[in-house]
Amino acid sequence: MNKLIIFAFICTTLLAGCSLKEAKAKMSKENKQITHTKKTEATFTDDSVPEVGNRPIFQPKATISISPLTFESTNATITTEDLKETVSGIRYHIWRTADGPENMQTFSSTGTAEDFSFLFDTNEFSGKRGEYHVEAYSVQEDGVEKLLAKTTLTFQQHVPILMYHAIDDYKGVGMQELFVSPANFEEQMRYLKDHGYTFLTFENWREVNKVNKPVLVTFDDGMKNNLNAFWILQKLQDNTFHPAATEYVIAGSIDKNPSRLSSADLKEMADSGIFSIQSHTMSHADLPKISNYKEELEGSKEKIEQVTGKPVIAIAYPFGHVDSTVVEETKKYYQYATTTKPGQFIEKGEADEMLLMRRVRISNSTNINQFAALVHSW
Ligand SMILES: [Zn+2]
Repeated sequence: MNKLIIFAFICTTLLAGCSLKEAKAKMSKENKQITHTKKTEATFTDDSVPEVGNRPIFQPKATISISPLTFESTNATITTEDLKETVSGIRYHIWRTADGPENMQTFSSTGTAEDFSFLFDTNEFSGKRGEYHVEAYSVQEDGVEKLLAKTTLTFQQHVPILMYHAIDDYKGVGMQELFVSPANFEEQMRYLKDHGYTFLTFENWREVNKVNKPVLVTFDDGMKNNLNAFWILQKLQDNTFHPAATEYVIAGSIDKNPSRLSSADLKEMADSGIFSIQSHTMSHADLPKISNYKEELEGSKEKIEQVTGKPVIAIAYPFGHVDSTVVEETKKYYQYATTTKPGQFIEKGEADEMLLMRRVRISNSTNINQFAALVHSW
């Protein structure tokens, strides 16, 4: 069984994205009966799958189509068509990537139609969003199941990208709302840890729909007191919890201003595997008002890369200020850019959305109940 599961992962990787097309939803066919069995221990075979060396090659015997999805979809019609053999029924094995094949559920579609459709709803998995694996098996007379086709299906997840500035007790200097006390920050990080959030950075943004409760923790301005956050995250780290965070630094302030993180600090943070060091421009420029984009965007990126030895792929616009020209310039050097526009991020398929990401502001006055509401996953 383990071998089959491993094999299924490999095949899914090979075939991902190749069978998505507009579905023909034919849900009202009279000769079709949809039954649903939870957590079936099915017997199934992959005898149709030849192996060449150690590399298995799966030849699909049908096509799985998914009805068009929007970012708000909570269900989708799944159809198996283009069958290369006559079958009397299709059994769908479905599991959520983040929860693994051990949490697979089975749905059966029987009848004599040439395609087998059913309406899959995320409510079958407690409304959880993200990527699902879908495998279609034919049911043979002896009860053995044979794999026909497989694909993945994604219901976009909302992602809170948290925005912090100073992590220190407020001592009367600067804007109080930009300060979150180390005690509050630790309470907030413990909340995320205890409630099963997965900390990501932009380097592994592609995991957003493959994990439970994705969250990004970001800091603007590269304040020296962000070392408090670094130490707290190090303290919370254990065998099962892997904290990760993003520090957006003002490249021109590195080693020039004692209230900012030094190159030695940044190198240590980056080498820890916890922090990703990214750009907040060279001089904290108000980007829509400037013309020397190359220095602010490319120059800051190169300088930070020299300090950490790691790629810089993301930027936070100073003051959250951005316009269409800034977006066009930013995309020459960066894959991701965050604003200060409030809200959780969800991929909608809009142009330049990865360069206009919203964030969730955490302030001095944010209490733990408000924090819980702001990061609520849905
Ligand atoms: Zn800033």
